[in-house]
Amino acid sequence: MNLPQERYTEREEMVKMQIASRGVVDPRVLTAMLEIPRHLFVPENLSSSAYDDRPLPIGHEQTISQPYIVAVMTELLELKRNSRVLEIGTGSGYQAAILSLLAEEVITIERIPDVADSAERLLKKLDITNITVITGDGSLGYSPRAQYDSILVTAGAPSLSCALIKQLSDDARIVAPVGGREVQELVVIEKKDGVIREFKHGAVCFVPLIGRYGWGGIEGCYHIDSKKNN
Ligand code: SAH
Repeated sequence: MNLPQERYTEREEMVKMQIASRGVVDPRVLTAMLEIPRHLFVPENLSSSAYDDRPLPIGHEQTISQPYIVAVMTELLELKRNSRVLEIGTGSGYQAAILSLLAEEVITIERIPDVADSAERLLKKLDITNITVITGDGSLGYSPRAQYDSILVTAGAPSLSCALIKQLSDDARIVAPVGGREVQELVVIEKKDGVIREFKHGAVCFVPLIGRYGWGGIEGCYHIDSKKNN
């Protein structure tokens, strides 16, 4: 890995004021947020805002998530050193870079080829070698590399495909924003000894998941109000 140190004090400030102060406690998550140079993942003209407490546009009508939300979702995944993680919605590649410091292997999938290419180039430049960027529709998950110990969805889904739950190994978690087009509920779906449990973690706003099981597609088997796992 080749992670530049510049703007470290801004990251210290971000972690202290935006993340730790709001209750994120996992030291591995806080360290990863300190180490990954977020300013390299935003467009150059927004570099001065890279450590602001908000999402930022990254082109193609997409956004890099607010630092606090990245930290919360990462903590909820409860990653282990040897975890294999699937991220749906690569965007800038920032969330994938954070995950790469906590897990063994990250597979991240992005539907817009240009977005996937830029993220892949940047991750290569930073010499992060345990991330694979795939171009495609992540609403179906990514079966060639299943099973996953964690699945993180970083675009707002109307419902989730059964395929995602099938691609989850036992004792594993999905973290995903599920609900409306503008506002979703951050849900955690846990699979343990074959039993599925779910809990909700509050309201979030993500750009829409578009694809076969996304907006404009067909309904998946997991909804925010009713849970059917057939
Ligand atoms: N995790 C990103 C932010 C995600 S923004 C980061 O750290 O910057 C959401 C991304 O999901 C967008 O890039 C969008 O193009 C992508 N997306 C939307 N629907 C998708 C789908 N079905 N499969 C893969 N990517 C999708």
